[in-house]
Amino acid sequence: MTDRPHLAVIGAGPAGLAATVAAAAHGVRVTLLDSAAQAGGQFYRRPAAELRAHRPQALHHDWRTWERLRDGLDTHVKAGTARHLTDHHIWFVERHPGRFTVHALLGPEQEDPVAVHADAVLLATGGYEKVLPFPGWTLPGVVTAGGAQAMLKGTLAVSGRIAVVAGTGPLLLPVATGLAAAGVEVAALVESADPKAFVRRTLALAAQPGKLAEGARYAAQLARHRVRTLARHTVVEGHGTERLEAVTVAALDGAGHIRPGTGRRIPCDTLAVGHGMLPHTDLAETLGCRLDAMDVHVDDEQRTDVSGVWAAGETTGIGGSALALAEGHIAGRSAAARLRGRAPDPREWAAAARTRTRLREFAAALDSVYAPPAHWTEQVTDDTVVCRCEEVTAGAVREAVAELGAGDVRTAKLLTRAGMGWCQGRMCAPAVAGLAGCELTPSRRPFARPVPLGVLAHEHTHPTERGSS
Ligand SMILES: Cc1cc2nc3c(=O)[nH]c(=O)nc-3n(C[C@H](O)[C@H](O)[C@H](O)COP(=O)(O)OP(=O)(O)OC[C@H]3O[C@@H](n4cnc5c(N)ncnc54)[C@H](O)[C@@H]3O)c2cc1C
Repeated sequence: MTDRPHLAVIGAGPAGLAATVAAAAHGVRVTLLDSAAQAGGQFYRRPAAELRAHRPQALHHDWRTWERLRDGLDTHVKAGTARHLTDHHIWFVERHPGRFTVHALLGPEQEDPVAVHADAVLLATGGYEKVLPFPGWTLPGVVTAGGAQAMLKGTLAVSGRIAVVAGTGPLLLPVATGLAAAGVEVAALVESADPKAFVRRTLALAAQPGKLAEGARYAAQLARHRVRTLARHTVVEGHGTERLEAVTVAALDGAGHIRPGTGRRIPCDTLAVGHGMLPHTDLAETLGCRLDAMDVHVDDEQRTDVSGVWAAGETTGIGGSALALAEGHIAGRSAAARLRGRAPDPREWAAAARTRTRLREFAAALDSVYAPPAHWTEQVTDDTVVCRCEEVTAGAVREAVAELGAGDVRTAKLLTRAGMGWCQGRMCAPAVAGLAGCELTPSRRPFARPVPLGVLAHEHTHPTERGSS
């Protein structure tokens, strides 16, 4: 099989799996790399085998698609047309004329370097959650909505007994229903979006009957578990000393301000909160790929503007797992054809292309209705920690803006250290942008992961000595 052209697919979520299966079936050798111990990404996250879950599918919908992808990957691994490298944390993709080196870190400390050489690269690195700060958000018991979901799917554990699920976005629905089905009392689902916005986009949303049915299923589950939904509301404060004991939620007016006198306290030990998602674009940025706002730009074949680099799934824009699957399939087919020296025939993926068009329209409609409160920064007191890694408060960021003239996230970072810590601003950048009153822009980090200096020094002196192809 070594005479086949070699494609490195980074990310084993729905997009990367669909791409791997499609490309391996059409004449290329695929190496699928992911930092996780199992394939599946965020959507098909499953309990570790040692937990011996009897019915892991109970926490999922669309399980058949997972079985199809898993079986497809297994078939290609057995045939030698694909290999799956788990626990590979990719920190950099290096571009050489006509080929690429994917640099990864292995091991529990992520300190052992390895390099994989390939003729082309397909980025399927997904997205991550956006969380905006409020007083009390750093208390133990406050978790991200996706984090609560990941804990449930990955470890079969829940983070408390009484939860409030809050923020904005479609992810709150599976989180609230998943926690309720797992036996957690979900005291409220607090969504800041305005129901009137859904009515205004009825046509675009109703054009997806499958998605409407999914929404109706969630509504029925919320009703069955007696979960109270508070639309056009937001969490203004988390209370507690050692850990979370309650939250205060309040109603929003039409302009996104808190309605005075509407605050109410809800006792809970868990707050699962999220304000949408952002694409993972670090690897694309360092490769020099063009971004459209925060998304990797791709053409109809899912090619980036850098020759030999494809991208699929949520790295190209947040849109859900079904869109990621369609994009991954198209990217895999296109990469396979082009690596074998053929111009692909788009008729071969016409069905996936139609699905992609429909779901991108649906995602745009959802994006226009789900939004954090327009004036969320008004609730953030000066002593609220904004950058958790460097313990920078909202007051420090405001001072940098008002007194030192910081007008963008990068200047605020240089003046306050917000965004200089371990997560490199992935968590705090949207908050700093909001407090500074500027647009959130890509951060152009040199590496996608923290890299030990010894690894960098080794790469400099012996670039590919420990590599594998
Ligand atoms: C925490 C979380 C929970 C979610 N829960 C739900 C849910 O319950 N229901 C729902 O409908 N949608 C959920 N979503 C959204 C859904 O998961 C996505 O729509 C879908 O998974 C997108 O597929 P993807 O293949 O683009 O990316 P993903 O599924 O996110 O896969 C990306 C993969 O890339 C890997 N990766 C990224 N960067 C690197 C790197 N540098 N090195 C190595 N590997 C890397 C990741 O480990 C991951 O496995 C969730 C999203 C998140 C972030």
